[in-house]
Amino acid sequence: MGNILREKILAREKSAAYYAAERAMAQGAYPYFRSIESAQDTEVIIDGKRVLMFGSNAYLGLTNHPKVKEAATKAIELYGTGCAGSRFLNGTLDIHLELERRLAEYVGKDAALVFSTGFQVNLGVISCLTGRNDYIILDEFNHASIIDGSRLSFSKVIKYRHNDMHDLEQKLSRLPADAIKLIVVDGVFSMEGDIVKLPELVTLAERYGGSIMVDDAHGLGVIGRQGAGTASHFGLTDQVDLIMGTFSKSLASLGGFIASDNDTILYLKHHARSLIFSASMSPASVASTLAALDLIQSEPEHIANLWTNTRYATGLLRSAGLELGPTETPIIPIYVRDNDKTFQVTKMLQDKGIFVNPVVAPAVPADATLLRLSIMATHTFGQIEEAVSKISEAFRSIQINTGNAAYEASTTR
Ligand code: PMP
Repeated sequence: MGNILREKILAREKSAAYYAAERAMAQGAYPYFRSIESAQDTEVIIDGKRVLMFGSNAYLGLTNHPKVKEAATKAIELYGTGCAGSRFLNGTLDIHLELERRLAEYVGKDAALVFSTGFQVNLGVISCLTGRNDYIILDEFNHASIIDGSRLSFSKVIKYRHNDMHDLEQKLSRLPADAIKLIVVDGVFSMEGDIVKLPELVTLAERYGGSIMVDDAHGLGVIGRQGAGTASHFGLTDQVDLIMGTFSKSLASLGGFIASDNDTILYLKHHARSLIFSASMSPASVASTLAALDLIQSEPEHIANLWTNTRYATGLLRSAGLELGPTETPIIPIYVRDNDKTFQVTKMLQDKGIFVNPVVAPAVPADATLLRLSIMATHTFGQIEEAVSKISEAFRSIQINTGNAAYEASTTR
């Protein structure tokens, strides 16, 4: 067989998992691009029916908060609907600069730089910091935007096993001592809900001369002092070189930022292509992020409620005998371990009025497919009880294995 043909067949085998989406469509269980006819809240309207939302990243439930909406409306009145240009040229407003000052202070760094999405932060920052003879070192479960940012860089990219500090040390110890080594990690892993082992990672970075960038998309507003994120949670802000965050989760808006020392931010302002060659955050997005940040810093009950709900939901799900992943946060993975059943149970749950997200291959290995539940500060105990009872009912009715043996096997992958 010629090489090209063999490669094509291999590629087809690799993408076999995608056909699961087509099968799901044929079975009427396609779970993507579901159209929501209301605000992102604990209850949403789909096809005219009320559905409890357990698949939102708005952890603090602020996207529909009156103060956040009022700030966005006022910004539109004052600045209009768009900036019609990049930050670099005509697209910088005074409120962009105010947000940057507030974020730098919040996460404990000299300066910050806001981009139009979190994805663009990772693309722009990771691709331009290191050079041809340098290394970018990644946890294998890092977010897609980190992987894509690394692909755009000229550096060599090395992956280590998920949160496995022994494997990371092995990889670091083989690299040239004088090369720049940028270790990029999720603070809270987006599918698993576990937290990076930052203290061990910092020790290794110091031992082998590495720099650290933490993507805190899911840590911000959730862990750390006033929700300042993973570095703050561990008291290691000074040991982390770059802190990245997004506004599309706890901060109830759209956009993202990078925070670091003054020199690094100045460099990024003139080299991050996704910043320079893309239009800036819209005024409404900036103002709503600022308003959400005000609420997070002045009303501690939002984060407190999130944790009360997280503990309540995790406890109920465990007592119902469901097999949960090693989560430590409001992201709760419930294993299904079968692509088709994952789609089936998602559809069944939506019919019963519960919205959850399916996670299937290739995002996770085929035997580790799962439902990803996310808890919000604004869920009521009643909503959580309803969701847990309907989830266990659905799992029983399509005979999803809830034993622990398979789970223990999978965690050693
Ligand atoms: N990093 C992580 C870990 C994420 O989960 C996400 C979004 N899912 C992003 C970056 C990208 O953020 P945004 O949605 O703002 O583009």
